[in-house]
Amino acid sequence: METLYRKYRSQDFNQVFGQKSNVMIMQKQVADSHVGHSYLFAGPRGTGKTSLARIFSKAVNCSSSKKGNPCLKCSSCKSIAQGRFLDLIEIDAASNRGIEEIRRLRERVNFSPGEGKYKVYIIDEVHMLTNDAFNALLKTLEEPPSHVIFILATTEAHKIPQTIISRCQRFSFNLAEDETILAKLKYICKEEDVKFTDKALMTIVKNSGGSFRDSESILEKVLGAVGVVKDHKIDFEDVVDILGLAEEKEVVKLVDSLLRKDMSRSLKVFDKVASGGVSIFQFLRQSLEYCRELLIQKVSHKKGEFSLQHLLKVIVELSDAENRLKYTQVAQLPIEVAIVKICGDDENGTQELISSGSVEGKKKKLPELVSNAITQIPGKLKTTKKVKKERVLVDLDTVKKSWSKIIDKMIPYNHHLSAFFRKAVPMKVQRDILILQVPFRFHKQRIESPKGREVFAEISKELLSSALQCSCEVVCRDADEDLDDIVSQNNDVVLEVLGDIIE
Ligand SMILES: [Zn+2]
Repeated sequence: METLYRKYRSQDFNQVFGQKSNVMIMQKQVADSHVGHSYLFAGPRGTGKTSLARIFSKAVNCSSSKKGNPCLKCSSCKSIAQGRFLDLIEIDAASNRGIEEIRRLRERVNFSPGEGKYKVYIIDEVHMLTNDAFNALLKTLEEPPSHVIFILATTEAHKIPQTIISRCQRFSFNLAEDETILAKLKYICKEEDVKFTDKALMTIVKNSGGSFRDSESILEKVLGAVGVVKDHKIDFEDVVDILGLAEEKEVVKLVDSLLRKDMSRSLKVFDKVASGGVSIFQFLRQSLEYCRELLIQKVSHKKGEFSLQHLLKVIVELSDAENRLKYTQVAQLPIEVAIVKICGDDENGTQELISSGSVEGKKKKLPELVSNAITQIPGKLKTTKKVKKERVLVDLDTVKKSWSKIIDKMIPYNHHLSAFFRKAVPMKVQRDILILQVPFRFHKQRIESPKGREVFAEISKELLSSALQCSCEVVCRDADEDLDDIVSQNNDVVLEVLGDIIE
């Protein structure tokens, strides 16, 4: 079955929802025959970059466009819509990172278009190209044949070399406003002859994060699950059930408790929500969305009985939890940690709660600490604060005991890295630096790489409650320099194989 996203993809400039100024400028360029040769479409996913790139390709090739808008009837309009127009070449840089694709592009680029007036190259996720590929592309952008148009689309413009960017006309795509997405969903519902209450549709909009594509796939999911029943209006409750959303009042309760620094209530509310089968990710999103509303109210009307600073802390910690949620095995944990951090008196208070626990009862884990916190707060925080002034860091024994766990935990983050850490032996802990002994220099290079440090800090923070740095000592300093050289070519596959051979 055709997805709603495909079915309702805009076909001409008039059908585009949002991105009004981009649409106006592009359409005017076509109408005035002032078309450039290279464009950069930059913005988040689901904001219509490739849809608009295709409409633009139609417009420049249309034989009877009106005021720059493609007619959708001529042979090139039709053939682009059906995806069989030979002069529209779409390259997905995410899967074609190599220089080969760009080299082939350079060979073909000089041939005149076969069907239309212009040959259009759309390179999606262009930031994924390798440096060599970028250099090859740059040569073409410097002297583009007059019949060629490049549209480079990206979600991460900052990763594109300045030399490329400076050759392009840049169009920025923004996340759509709620009202714009709502308008499109309403349009789709009308076409599909299905009925939603406004609140139900708005809930879908709020959960799409400004992306048309996401909103349409949620709509599709809801329709698929509820089915279309004549005269039945799909309502808020239906959407909530299907999305695994928490009820609004739970969201309000949690954020309210966090703003009052009521740890016990916050943890209880969250526990109830999490055990009720609600998607924790969605719940977090809803909570952040609600915080955002509060923030806007606070800034514009100075409303609310909490400080702006504390609200910002809530937002920062919840966003942090949202990021962690992507990696953790125990889905509740990041939010529980966030709650403890937010409701602790200050940063030291929480730090001590966590680290003093690991000293007092060596075996205590964070989840226990958190559940203890429900009954022991606020007394626990206050007393521990007086007793312990200095941060207690991890000792070598604790690291050694958890070492295999740390490595196992690393596998889903980065398989190669875990192979290198597996070869390392923990030797010493100096403050927050863990000294490791490794067999070869390339182990050191990989473990001490930014990625290696980041992953290790993340995992040690989670498992040992302390973000550790690592520093490596190489055992075989002079041995196998050749091996080192091969590896320094940075070939991950070679690295992994070698990593496993050297025991
Ligand atoms: Zn046409």
